[in-house]
Amino acid sequence: QPGKPGWRRRRRRIRRRGRRKCCVGSSYRIFLPLGGTGGRDRNVATPRDYYFALAHTVRDHLVGRWIRTQQYYYEKDPKRIYYLSLEFYMGRTLQNTMINLGLQNACDEAVYQLGLDMEELEEIEEDAGLGNGGLGRLAACFLDSMATLGLAAYGYGIRYEYGIFNQKIRDGWQVEEADDWLRHGNPWEKARPEYMLPVHFYGRVEHSASGAKWIDTQVVLALPYDTPVPGYMNNTVNTMRLWSARAPNDFNLRDFNVGDYIQAVLDRNLAENISRVLYPNDNFFEGKELRLKQEYFVVAATLQDIIRRFKASKFGSTDSVRTVFDSFPDQVAIQLNDTHPAMAIPELMRIFVDIEKLPWDKAWDITKRTFAYTNHTVLPEALERWPVDLVEKLLPRHLQIIYEINQRHLDHIASLFPNDVERLRRMSLIEEGDTKRINMAHLCIVGSHAVNGVAKIHSEIVKTQVFEDFAELEPEKFQNKTNGITPRRWLLLCNPGLAELIAEKIGEDYVRDLSQLTKLHKFVDDDLFIREVAKVKQENKVKFALYLEKEYKVKINPSSMFDVHVKRIHEYKRQLMNCLHIITMVPRGCSSTPAAPGYHMAKMIIKLINAVAQVVNNDPVVGSKLKVIFLENYRVSLAEKVIPATDLSEQISTAGTEASGTGNMKFMLNGALTIGTMDGANVEMAEEAGEENLFIFGMRVEDVTELDRKGYNAQLYYDRLPELKQAVDQIKSGFFSPNDPNLFNDVVNMLFHHDRFKVFADYEAYVKCQEKVSELYLNSKAWTKMVIRNIAAAGKFSSDRTIKEYARDIWHVEPSDLKIPPPNEPRDGG
Ligand SMILES: *Cc1c(COP(=O)(O)O)cnc(C)c1O
Repeated sequence: QPGKPGWRRRRRRIRRRGRRKCCVGSSYRIFLPLGGTGGRDRNVATPRDYYFALAHTVRDHLVGRWIRTQQYYYEKDPKRIYYLSLEFYMGRTLQNTMINLGLQNACDEAVYQLGLDMEELEEIEEDAGLGNGGLGRLAACFLDSMATLGLAAYGYGIRYEYGIFNQKIRDGWQVEEADDWLRHGNPWEKARPEYMLPVHFYGRVEHSASGAKWIDTQVVLALPYDTPVPGYMNNTVNTMRLWSARAPNDFNLRDFNVGDYIQAVLDRNLAENISRVLYPNDNFFEGKELRLKQEYFVVAATLQDIIRRFKASKFGSTDSVRTVFDSFPDQVAIQLNDTHPAMAIPELMRIFVDIEKLPWDKAWDITKRTFAYTNHTVLPEALERWPVDLVEKLLPRHLQIIYEINQRHLDHIASLFPNDVERLRRMSLIEEGDTKRINMAHLCIVGSHAVNGVAKIHSEIVKTQVFEDFAELEPEKFQNKTNGITPRRWLLLCNPGLAELIAEKIGEDYVRDLSQLTKLHKFVDDDLFIREVAKVKQENKVKFALYLEKEYKVKINPSSMFDVHVKRIHEYKRQLMNCLHIITMVPRGCSSTPAAPGYHMAKMIIKLINAVAQVVNNDPVVGSKLKVIFLENYRVSLAEKVIPATDLSEQISTAGTEASGTGNMKFMLNGALTIGTMDGANVEMAEEAGEENLFIFGMRVEDVTELDRKGYNAQLYYDRLPELKQAVDQIKSGFFSPNDPNLFNDVVNMLFHHDRFKVFADYEAYVKCQEKVSELYLNSKAWTKMVIRNIAAAGKFSSDRTIKEYARDIWHVEPSDLKIPPPNEPRDGG
């Protein structure tokens, strides 16, 4: 039982005891009903059967609280918060649910008594990989924090049948495999066919005295699947609702293909392809029609659901049709996770104006007060700019509405800045050019009452550079909300040893209030605590080394420094700079992560890292000092393993390019030191911990701007720095690709002639900084003291803090301490 003295130690003991074959005792409160759900008897039950039995058992403990919470929202009608996102990178659910419900000890005990290994069962669960990286994982952390803070919040997205691809490395090259995550069924979701909704595409618009009518459309049905989202130990269970595309039963039968019944049934796939697969683009816009369909699909289904729920509330049942929506912005907040769900803005306008018959000005006022937009990147190639022709074909009425919004927006600007044609061009929602495009960020800014960046430095760039004209117009609209991570998954779940050690020193309350970690400052000079922190890290490293040996047959020395660079491969994240340093210094370990398929440079970088690893690891002298491991298939469940085992966290993006980063925060909280640039949230990590407790190097944003002004010339650095020259020459000469000496020509050519991210310019500072890291690592005590100062300063980076700021400054709701009453015991009809 949590709360009883020593419970954490006991849990650890049980987890360490591991697998036992015999079966003893069964008088525990947790039972695993194999027969009920698996339909298997014990003699033929597989570990997967036991996983499902455990998952169903844990799920049963959610149901009562889930129903209670939703009933409570229905009765009390608090303001609803809707988080709209094309990605929810949830990872696994079992252990997180046990932790948030306080069931972990009881389950550990029961599983142990059955002679089973809990960790083995947990490994059977597939990751819900419905995201690419930071943006999708942020949505998942926010759901946990919103439930923990007692907000009446909903996550709305798409139930992709295939999530982010599984990455395999074959002969050093990336190969993608389909992520068939639903193959064995998903015990955490519940289909809700009774809430299925139609979504329209194509067709044409008819204008008459009674307004616009969108007709002759093709319909796809949106079938919702609900997943419970438990708060941490507060009896709150919120909902993540993901839509799946279904063809209507008359699909292609009524109007077309009459007489070809078989073909019509086969063609149902066309409609259902909408929710088939997640686009694996991180920080990159690819203007594909199917992607636009996905974006509108989630938006259209979600807004119908939101309005249905509003109308069912006491606020929505006012007599007067004219005033019923007046309270809408007080009852509904919709947060747009990047511009991906931006079509929600014209869609809500369409509902208000065409269907509910509100006057335009009123509809627009309500719409603006409902939406808020979070910007996640300033990289131009990532900004969504949909061709007008495509939108006109797929969503003709929405294009008209966007034009109307733009007309009024430009009229307003023209009235404030007469004769400033250039400004009108810059601020238009419509970009002229060889293809006319809609700038979705501009649409979001104009249609929202709040716009935020995700770290101080990023929000400043958003305000003063990327959307300068808009900030000049409405400065109070622009805000910062520095990202965060949930300490439940990113500490309690992934690093129980450290979580316990902290609880022994400062109590357990820090889990809900991470700012309490500052209490650890008292123990920076406590020799026993220093040794214990170092010991936990060592245990995590040994465990990870064993995992690598078991899964990948590679051996690493657990007493060496684990220098880890995990994140999506992207030029701006500069995995290449790390790689050059490896070639130069022949140091440490490095691992890395997937690139979107088809992204040529990223794939070449992966190949290069693997080629370098091949040479380094097989060198008899170097290979004993350094191992370079390319960790394949980085994902949430792998992050949970590698982050707690890391000594050095690589956060080396070009200043001004990484909006926030959240990987950086996970490492800080888990006792790694950071080598990084003054970019994204690194800046605030240095502010919290003191710059002297991070390894900060390289150009600041101002330096990058200045270098751009002067003109960046990579050759200069190459000519001046002998080590850099040697490393680059080695790649050029075919040293890492003897069978194809020209293999990396494109990479080298890029570094010299079109490196937007200026790898050579930071190379020298990076190498020098790595030397300082190596020196400190030799002094284990000094290193660990710096680690403790970092953990003590990590409190700001809880997503609970982030969500409290959204609640206060954007959604205008109070995080409630109002306790949802505990549920009745399961199975008594409650
Ligand atoms: C946190 C996380 C990310 C984001 O990492 P960054 O270093 O901030 O880019 C990406 N992928 C996974 C699986 C994560 O858990």
